[in-house]
Amino acid sequence: MKKTVKTRKVSGVDSVEPAITPLKESPSIPRKSKLPPIGAPRLDIPEGLWTKCPKCGEILYDKYLDDNLKVCMHCHFHFPIGARERINALVETCSFEEIDADLQSFDFLEFKGPNNYTDKLRQNQQKTGLKDAIVTGICKIGSFTVALGVMDFRFLGGSMGSVVGEKITRLIEKATDRRLPVIIFSASGGARMYEGMFSLMQMAKTSAALSFHAKARLPYISVLTHPTTAGVMASFASLGDIILAEPKAMIGFAGPRVIKETTHSELPPGFQTSEFLLDHGFIDAIVDRTQMKHTLQQLLQCMCPDKSTLD
Ligand SMILES: [Zn+2]
Repeated sequence: MKKTVKTRKVSGVDSVEPAITPLKESPSIPRKSKLPPIGAPRLDIPEGLWTKCPKCGEILYDKYLDDNLKVCMHCHFHFPIGARERINALVETCSFEEIDADLQSFDFLEFKGPNNYTDKLRQNQQKTGLKDAIVTGICKIGSFTVALGVMDFRFLGGSMGSVVGEKITRLIEKATDRRLPVIIFSASGGARMYEGMFSLMQMAKTSAALSFHAKARLPYISVLTHPTTAGVMASFASLGDIILAEPKAMIGFAGPRVIKETTHSELPPGFQTSEFLLDHGFIDAIVDRTQMKHTLQQLLQCMCPDKSTLD
């Protein structure tokens, strides 16, 4: 009996027949989706490995972005950065001695509103790993010993409640006692509404501590990062002997919409950015995050040249 050999008519690896290029208009072949038109938003990028720059649209490898202190390698856009990351980027290894690390807020006013303050505090502590919106400590930057405070906008918008105010005040007082320069990085939406008038009192308290620090003829460098507004801007953030800012940071007291409605006038282009404030003399320099440590060392060298050998 004659044996017939059947051949499979499937194109691909196992096929015994050569694959035939289908006709262009064949209805059985799924057609490749068309590319989106120029200017259309790109497809979503999976999280965890790559980040899309919101300014230039480049896709950035997270490791390289972290190595560059979260500054876009193409357009220098400054991504938000946490307080601990910023401290690690600034200070000498293992030199940061945190103070008041366990100080944390509680709902002493029993705030009544759409959100429960105790729940909000717990959520933000879990989210950031911080007790409140600022980390303070004594550390070395280059060969200089400094009192450093770094705010973290992720914690309730960097709002200044009684703990933030107290930690800043204690940092400044410690610096005055030890005759150290103070450096504070601000990032804040203003006073913390959950603490009512007590949050506003922090403006006077921190300013008074800085006044004693200045009378002791000790330097204070204020660094404004995106965004620095309201009660923080109206107190310690604007009192620096030298005021630096990161590029394109939003800096101001009230938001532009409120100012526009109050003054009934058009706001100039670039209003409330660090570049605008540099042009109008409010800040002394705009410093790229990758150059911040070097710049601070140069300033400290000028402001306290005899302190570089302390400790
Ligand atoms: Zn970019």
